[in-house]
Amino acid sequence: MHIHEETYHWNSPLKTRGATRAVILHHAAADGASAQDIHRQHQNNGWSGIGYHYYVRKTGEVFRGRPEHAVGTHAAGRNGDTIGVCFEGNFQHDTMPPAQFAAGAALLANILTRCPGLPLLRHRDVCQTACPGQHFPFEALKEEAEMTQERFNEMAGRWLESLGKLPPSDWSAEARSWAEAAGLIQGDGAGNYQYKRPLTREEYVAMEYRRQEGRA
Ligand SMILES: [Zn+2]
Repeated sequence: MHIHEETYHWNSPLKTRGATRAVILHHAAADGASAQDIHRQHQNNGWSGIGYHYYVRKTGEVFRGRPEHAVGTHAAGRNGDTIGVCFEGNFQHDTMPPAQFAAGAALLANILTRCPGLPLLRHRDVCQTACPGQHFPFEALKEEAEMTQERFNEMAGRWLESLGKLPPSDWSAEARSWAEAAGLIQGDGAGNYQYKRPLTREEYVAMEYRRQEGRA
């Protein structure tokens, strides 16, 4: 999954969010705006800049808005503990193109692998608004994102389980002590390791990277 990075000039410094308790989904209520257009519109509202953390275009391109750790401006009352994701289009009228659906689901799965169990909500679940519109495929997106995350965790779990069965080697010893120090696995002293919690995508990638480095 690729996220286009944008350079924004903020009207005022962004604040770091203290907690993340949900992801809130929005529509832009319009077609054709770039991430920079939304940034300018939100600055015209007197805000620091683009209020969303991610913007998913109809083409399937995903753009970063605010840094994920920053407090957003997208859902009154919930900006302090949520990540805001906006989809291009007006889903009061439109149906979502497959490319946008796939990109949105991949982005949400990516967020969920880093923040397991985070609820996905619509803007209208937390505020008086029609956003993201009656034709927004909320349930389907949620299902797809959660399934992708589960498949990913299963795969990571199987790989981690296999760690305990492999003969020790330089690369696995290093990965094991790292995973143990990170609180991911627990050894019983006899060379068997147990899986303590689901891996994040970064952790899995770091381990896979080390494994491949070890082989090369
Ligand atoms: Zn909204």
